[in-house]
Amino acid sequence: MSQLQSYLSGTWVSGTGPGTALVNPMTDDTLATADSEGLDLGAALEHARTKGGSALRSMTFAERGAALKALSGAIHEHREALIDIGIANAGNTRGDAKFDIDGATGTLAAYAHFAKSLPEGRGFLSDGDTIQLSRSPHFQGQHVCVPRHGVAVHINAFNFPAWGMMEKAACALLAGMPILEKPGTPTAMMAERIAHIIVESGILPEGSFSFLVGGPADLLDHVSAQDCVAFTGSSGTAKLLRAHHAFVERGARLNAEADSLNAAVLGPDVNDDCDAFDMFLREMSREMTQKAGQKCTAVRRILVPEGKLEEVGEALVDALARVRVGDPAESETRMGPLTNAAQLKSVREGLEKLQPVTKVLCGGDTSPFDRGPFQMPTLLQAETGEAAPVHADEVFGPVATLVPYDGSVNHAAQLVSSGGGGLLATLYSDDRKFSTELALALAPWSGRVYMGSSKVAEHGMGPGLVLPSMTHGGPGRAGGGEELGGVRGLQFYMQRTALQGFRTLINTAFAAPPAP
Ligand code: NAP
Repeated sequence: MSQLQSYLSGTWVSGTGPGTALVNPMTDDTLATADSEGLDLGAALEHARTKGGSALRSMTFAERGAALKALSGAIHEHREALIDIGIANAGNTRGDAKFDIDGATGTLAAYAHFAKSLPEGRGFLSDGDTIQLSRSPHFQGQHVCVPRHGVAVHINAFNFPAWGMMEKAACALLAGMPILEKPGTPTAMMAERIAHIIVESGILPEGSFSFLVGGPADLLDHVSAQDCVAFTGSSGTAKLLRAHHAFVERGARLNAEADSLNAAVLGPDVNDDCDAFDMFLREMSREMTQKAGQKCTAVRRILVPEGKLEEVGEALVDALARVRVGDPAESETRMGPLTNAAQLKSVREGLEKLQPVTKVLCGGDTSPFDRGPFQMPTLLQAETGEAAPVHADEVFGPVATLVPYDGSVNHAAQLVSSGGGGLLATLYSDDRKFSTELALALAPWSGRVYMGSSKVAEHGMGPGLVLPSMTHGGPGRAGGGEELGGVRGLQFYMQRTALQGFRTLINTAFAAPPAP
């Protein structure tokens, strides 16, 4: 058993407390402990600001992009060892662990590519065109974005220890901000291994990478005005963070990615003989069971036209029965256990809340296994579309509820919106009018709308895939934040400043260089 280490102020250190045990969910063996007690987090943030910030800002976008590419390669070299850690410490199947690790290296590589579109030889971005501000053309304005002079503090959820960490890191480092990464404690082994790879690679300048394992301790108390905190986790923790004086009084920036009752809508035109229906079945089954449903983008509510409820329920139960559940270390396994006993307890409590308004079509609160925190794929059916608990509680496991709707755009949009705002809404239809109207009706409530149809049945990448070129985040209960989206993802880490002055100065020093 090892004690995981933090990398702070350029040194590997361990907390002084007993720490939290990180377990193998299949055996309940403790694999490592993680602890942050007694660590000087104020000094660590100051080291990052002074050493790391100035070092990164002295690099061009192209140099930072090259560093991201090198990091992607360095992590990829350790892919097999990282997969083993995901299997042991998170109950990941091999496929789940690859999804996480390849997501991390793929996002780093994508941002290395985006760096090529950024201006050479300057450390800031011009935002938009120059604007004539007075009657005379002499006085003009230009918006620019410069890197903030603080630390990007990244607080991540337990479910994507690799991808969650590196997607935030890619944006901040390319923008020119040093990072401090804090993974979710239960699965921090993979993140810690990646931290060692990053430090040993020597790719990043001193101070630009810090890493904290164990609880957050007094981290936020040391966050100051130029710092940015990007948080991913539950809406309960997001609520706590929002009230912290680092944001309320000192004006540090906070981006929150929280939980989400993601919905999918099956259009009334989709019958069981069309490709869109096969796509729906395939993707719903995968979204429910990949990472044992512990994905922020996993589908929780599946809206089906009233008259098709029985037929769709049967088809989806059949598809879920084909997902082989078992020991994640076995290559045939397609879904492993939940990450730990605490997650199983939380899922079972969620099922209890749904029980009064739903019936169980498959799965439920029993498991055929005598060890491991297994939750079998569980499909519920709501009595009515308006069953309130279905739209109120995220059950963070392989659980979704079929929800009847009357087949209209209005009813579908009204039900989806009762989830209070989500990361992702999915629709399946070959009817262009229905798809267009529903996508626009869902958009105010959704960070992303994925439109499945027979035309893209062979091309869609699945709604759960978070692409670096598209934004990730959602309104309302999903946290109200936004990440990624190509170069847009840098803006959180930069200050947009309106510069006003003499035309020649504005045009020569600050306006966007002409396109090559
Ligand atoms: P969580 O309990 O909210 O924890 C998230 C992170 O916050 C962890 O690193 C945790 O540290 C830290 N934390 C807890 N209390 C804190 C405090 N008072 N101050 C500062 N940091 C604090 O969430 P989780 O159980 O890890 O993750 C599951 C949830 O995340 C689900 O609800 C899921 O929907 C959501 N999620 C959302 C997205 C998205 O992109 N929107 C992505 C993935 C997951 P410790 O682990 O040390 O307690």
